Amino acid sequence: MIKNEKENLMEKIVALAKRRGFIFPGSEIYGGLAGTWDYGPAGSLLKKNIKDLWWKEMAQFRDDIVGMDAAIMMNPKAWEASGHVESFSDPLIECKLCHRRFRVDKEEEEIKEHEESHDGKTVEWTEPKKFNLLVKTYLGVVEGEQTEIYLRGEITNGVQVNFKNVVNSTRVKIPFGIAQIGKAFRNEITPGNFTFRSREFEQMEIQFYIKPDETEGKKWFEYWKQNRMDWYLSLGMKEENLRFRDHADDERAHYAQAATDIEYNSPWGWQEFMGVHHRGNWDLSRHQEFSGQDMSYYDSETGEKYIPWDIETSAGVDRSLLFILIDAYREDEERTYLKLNPRLAPYKMAVFPLLANKPELVELARTIYGDLKNKYMVAWDDRGNIGKRYYAQDEIGTPWCVTVDFDSLEDKQVTVRDRDTMKQERIAIGELEKYVEEKLK
Ligand code: ATP
Repeated sequence: MIKNEKENLMEKIVALAKRRGFIFPGSEIYGGLAGTWDYGPAGSLLKKNIKDLWWKEMAQFRDDIVGMDAAIMMNPKAWEASGHVESFSDPLIECKLCHRRFRVDKEEEEIKEHEESHDGKTVEWTEPKKFNLLVKTYLGVVEGEQTEIYLRGEITNGVQVNFKNVVNSTRVKIPFGIAQIGKAFRNEITPGNFTFRSREFEQMEIQFYIKPDETEGKKWFEYWKQNRMDWYLSLGMKEENLRFRDHADDERAHYAQAATDIEYNSPWGWQEFMGVHHRGNWDLSRHQEFSGQDMSYYDSETGEKYIPWDIETSAGVDRSLLFILIDAYREDEERTYLKLNPRLAPYKMAVFPLLANKPELVELARTIYGDLKNKYMVAWDDRGNIGKRYYAQDEIGTPWCVTVDFDSLEDKQVTVRDRDTMKQERIAIGELEKYVEEKLK
């Protein structure tokens, strides 16, 4: 795709996201709040489906992972221990002519463009300065006695501080993982590219604890890389749009033994949406040091005592959703549709009475709708002609549309129209639930 085409594609996706209730600009009626987004009816369902599938795969199907849900607000010492207070920052430079700021590490192109933008004047830049990304807030009601705290900058810390609680309260044995999904907040200096860089976003992570051993470390790091790539492929994302990018030595956090991003071929280039990080024993040993509490693990089989290593998989929910949307977007002469994996689609089916002013059709359609709703998210639409209703459902990626017509009253069958092939077939009303179940397998 050439540049204009890509920009065009992004505009279309942002417009569709708003038109069809996926994503709205945050606090829009007040002029918005930079870096915040609100998920509408379709978007919140898509987001929930991504998180539910992830959670099922991790915390439900596997015996070696348990889940947890830690508080967003933590004792500030936890952020000193994890190194965020000291070094969770981005380097910025400022144009001395207009005071606009840019990230030195991420905005090479924008910096070049900006240098051309001052009508021939030479742009001078300040030296790069670091800006901390942690969002601060205050707890307590009495002015002057409030405690300054941080909203979590990543969800990892809440798991790490609970390592011993999980070991002591469950039957987990190393190697094992702790799964968590939740919000994180960053004072991003340059939010942008739609939801890609937001100031409030969600993450889904596994901290997978292993024996501190080189061979184990390599084995599990490779395992999680492939496992995560396979998961995104199983959701139907196109293989040619996904790749690994290993971090160079000078790019990794000083404690990380290895790090890889999974990137998506987005309209603005290859971009990270999840990472696999070999964190060694950094987090637990730092929490041990700062809290004075023993964070080691006792292996009752071998009698060994050690601070385990941690292989982390950290995925952005919002970035995953954005790239799933872009990947599913299809357009031809006739229509626009989202070729979402049916398991991810906000609604599995839509039910229509052919004509809204025929009570007998509406009544039967309502019964079918009610029955299906017991099991799946199902949409209802009785406005306008059938073509328009298909069009609307295609744009939110509903895989099957069910129409109740006059024949249905006689033969107890309905027309099921497939989103991707647009083919229609007659299915017995009593078979509908099984039909969807088979397709979703
Ligand atoms: P970047 O380099 O793009 O700022 P990062 O390397 O700081 O990202 P991590 O700290 O590794 O990101 O966070 C893990 C995941 O959380 C990322 O892969 C991404 O999907 C998500 N994430 C991080 N920052 C943001 C953000 N500002 N908005 C949306 N998602 C984010």
